[in-house]
Amino acid sequence: MCGIIGYLGERAAAPVLLDSLQRLEYRGYDSAGVVVLGADGLATSIKSAGKVEALLARIGGDEIPGRVGMGHTRWATHGRPSHDNAHPHCDCSGRFYVIHNGIIENFAELRQELEGSGHHFASETDTEVLPHLIEEYYKGDLVVATRQALARLNGAYAVVVLSSTDPDTLIGARLNAPLVIGVGADEWFLSSDVTAIIPYTRQAIVLGEGQMAVLSPVGPVVTSIVDGSEIAPSVIRVEWDVIQAERGGYPNFMSKEIHEQPAALENALRGRLLSDGRVEFPDLGIDQEQLRSVQRIQIVAAGSAYYAGMIAKYALEDLAQIPTTVEVASEWRYRPQPLDHSTLTVAISQSGETADTLAAARLAKHRDSFVLALTNVVGSTLAMEADGVINLHAGPEICVVATKTFTNQVACSLLLALRLAQVRQTRSEGDLRELASALRSVAAVQRQLLARDQEFQPLGAWLAEHQSALYMGRGYNYPAAVEAALKLKEVAYVHAEGYPAGELKHGPIALLDESMPLIAFATEAPTRDKVRSNIQEAHARQSPVLAVVSEGDHSLDDQVRFKVEVPRVPEVVSPLVTALVGQLLAYHAAMARGFDVDRPRNLAKSVTVE
Ligand code: GLU
Repeated sequence: MCGIIGYLGERAAAPVLLDSLQRLEYRGYDSAGVVVLGADGLATSIKSAGKVEALLARIGGDEIPGRVGMGHTRWATHGRPSHDNAHPHCDCSGRFYVIHNGIIENFAELRQELEGSGHHFASETDTEVLPHLIEEYYKGDLVVATRQALARLNGAYAVVVLSSTDPDTLIGARLNAPLVIGVGADEWFLSSDVTAIIPYTRQAIVLGEGQMAVLSPVGPVVTSIVDGSEIAPSVIRVEWDVIQAERGGYPNFMSKEIHEQPAALENALRGRLLSDGRVEFPDLGIDQEQLRSVQRIQIVAAGSAYYAGMIAKYALEDLAQIPTTVEVASEWRYRPQPLDHSTLTVAISQSGETADTLAAARLAKHRDSFVLALTNVVGSTLAMEADGVINLHAGPEICVVATKTFTNQVACSLLLALRLAQVRQTRSEGDLRELASALRSVAAVQRQLLARDQEFQPLGAWLAEHQSALYMGRGYNYPAAVEAALKLKEVAYVHAEGYPAGELKHGPIALLDESMPLIAFATEAPTRDKVRSNIQEAHARQSPVLAVVSEGDHSLDDQVRFKVEVPRVPEVVSPLVTALVGQLLAYHAAMARGFDVDRPRNLAKSVTVE
């Protein structure tokens, strides 16, 4: 769930580990720790509750000798955040150290068994069973003992193991959680995230599901955990820039990433939206015949990706005329439905590691449905397991809440809908060309809007004074309203809900009075007049309305407290504009309340547990 870094090489390990842990801080975590193995085989383990800063303070200026080590930032799943529960964890003899991301589902039985045979536990974590299991199995071969111990675990893990019995070895393994090997010159890294290793090396090996890597001065050896068979690893080059992964001139990653959206959108369209308006996906993995034979589409996703999926549904039905359902992955995975190869499953996940979306995609694949992944992480589990992939090309997103990955999920969904409409000839060529050119011009519209960032500061400050807010929209802007409400909840901790504007009268209108602001998306669309009526209804009940309207629309001036004018775009692409309004409102509301927008409380970037 959180951050892992391992190092083996020629340098002093501790500075590399601490630097990398700071790079992994964005994931949201509650404690951190490191362990370094000295040349004498002695391990120094230091951990602390709280931020990496607290860990640094604990270490002080002390030098930690050793060229092999590992570090962890924890997001607690078993046992509260505390010093004792922070990783690394070790066995009774103090020889075997483990850091772990994920959840060991059968830890309770294992712990009982191990305690029964005399092991003493120092923490409440699920993780701690692993070092004790290794101790139990160790008969002089660390690799064998680790493999045997891992074979006992159910659940999800990315782990790194270090032992004083083998001072030149670092072992990494994964199951349902990501782990990459960084390959430097005579030095190797293990990390849950390439962001941690790119300052050191751009060569990486993405460890596959159920694989284990043994690092030693002769390099990494990758094997299958189950049978120990050797696997030839393929080294990829990570193109992400260090600068890209840092804050640039912005005060925080959220702001930086909001402003990166036009460039991210252009990247999503590059090489896909051709100058004649046709859409091509060079690496889609689905041929035209398959695209023509799709009878139904189901989208599985969670959180913001689910709302992007709702927009995708509208576009797929509207443009490609394919009946589409959107499913919350955590529900769908336990509610098997009829499915076959005529249904295309689109799994949307920023990280490509979202446990529920991954499980839903696997289930769909098992039922013969073709699975197409929309993800931002090349080499992620979802990307590797899906039949086809559309990479979002949004670049690294460091802020915990989704901004540019959300809009790129929407953009890639629109591209997919356009592609299907082309292949199936469900819209005239002229129509499709027009939509394609609208999509191409959105980045410029976003830039215009973002140049007015400061206009949103007083609006955000106004929202921040409230306990609750309602958002509404119709058509493509209904999901945009729900996503905007989620943003406000996530970063400003203001309770907010998004509704289809027509639903207001069926309940939520009871909440409206002068203390309940209503944010209404009322931009150019066939249903705009309906939204106007809904705004009037709210105004009549003294609700202060903030309306987002198309440039030059003055029809609501006497009904609304605030008005944000945005450039006119066709409704299909409008969420790529209104989403930014929602983000800027939430951002400035959070700033007005003085919150850390990059690390909102209780949230984690990549939700790899259920
Ligand atoms: N389940 C482990 C714990 O609670 C690991 C959590 C994590 O992924 O950080 O300590």
